[in-house]
Amino acid sequence: MSFDELAGENPGRPPLARELSPKALGDLVVEEGGKPFHGRILAECVHQKGILDFDRISNLSKALRKKLAKRISLSSTAVLQRSTGNEGTTKYLLGLEDGESIEMVLIPDGKRNTVCMSTQVGCPIACIFCASGLLGVRRNLNRTELLEQFLLARQELGESPLTNIVVMGLGEPMLNLGELLPTLDHIVGHFGFSARRITVSTSGTSDRIRAFARSGHPFGLALSLHAADGELRKRLVPTASEDPRSLVRASQDYFGATGREPTFEIVLLRNWNDEPQHARALARLLHRQRGHINLIPWNQVEEIPNLNSPEPDRVDRFRDILQNEGLKVTVRRRRGRDRNAACGQLRLGRSPQPEKGSKHISGN
Ligand code: SAH
Repeated sequence: MSFDELAGENPGRPPLARELSPKALGDLVVEEGGKPFHGRILAECVHQKGILDFDRISNLSKALRKKLAKRISLSSTAVLQRSTGNEGTTKYLLGLEDGESIEMVLIPDGKRNTVCMSTQVGCPIACIFCASGLLGVRRNLNRTELLEQFLLARQELGESPLTNIVVMGLGEPMLNLGELLPTLDHIVGHFGFSARRITVSTSGTSDRIRAFARSGHPFGLALSLHAADGELRKRLVPTASEDPRSLVRASQDYFGATGREPTFEIVLLRNWNDEPQHARALARLLHRQRGHINLIPWNQVEEIPNLNSPEPDRVDRFRDILQNEGLKVTVRRRRGRDRNAACGQLRLGRSPQPEKGSKHISGN
């Protein structure tokens, strides 16, 4: 099959190098006047290193790279914007081929480098406190778009290794398991990334959590519980209104299947779910259940002016109540608070979308 035919599905750009075999890449290099060993360099950069930008293949001549760039693409996504917070957290706004955009966040923390990945363009869950859902959902991300977030994170870190992946960006991962699981499988199988260092966050549902648990890898599970009381949870997470008890049951089945303890995420909102009675209800719900609780003081979102973060002493009291009941609990340190800290905000505040089919600027 010719390269032009291969490109048929994406007339806007040449085929992705990643989807071609090392041999096909080698043939292409020779066709463009390079030597076979140049082909091996290219194949290594594409298949082993996962490089997304021709500028980073400095051991091929500029002239050859220029010719190759007309025949193959290294990436389908483009970095539209980078914004770095004062703790070193960097948010990326990524442009997709259909003009949509998503966010990805890189969080360096000592020896740990974490990428926070998106799974959908927007989010259908519409939690009342979350910026991602304000505009609803446009579509699921495909495998290429998912993988390229991982590759970009690695590329951006350079010599420093990517150690953790959290799937906590835009979207509800359980609504895109069909693309997400094969991608994570590839990240584990091809790049040797440990499944134990990958965590997927979800608002539900219990049947999907069980399907996720059966994926064959012990990926981490973070359940966005937010409240023990069903009515309250329904108000916070209107579209994923499954009863907390049934979600917790699914999380215990997940533990049974993977041997990993789930995390229960509680985003704390002032006067909504941060009072002692809420902590006590949570302690009752999670009594004798496997897992630990992560309290997340709400990150202010400009577009949601009617909500507030909890007072720090409320957070401490909440934590103490849970701890006194013998539950494992941590409070999430806030990162990048200074600027668009929560996911979805960069996308909301972005400049107008590029025209469909407009050229993506790769790299920077
Ligand atoms: N849809 C999935 C994954 C994306 S959200 C889910 O609901 O889990 C990842 C986590 O960030 C969730 O626990 C979500 O409740 C939390 N979150 C969203 N907006 C937030 C904000 N402004 N401040 C703090 N946490 C937030």
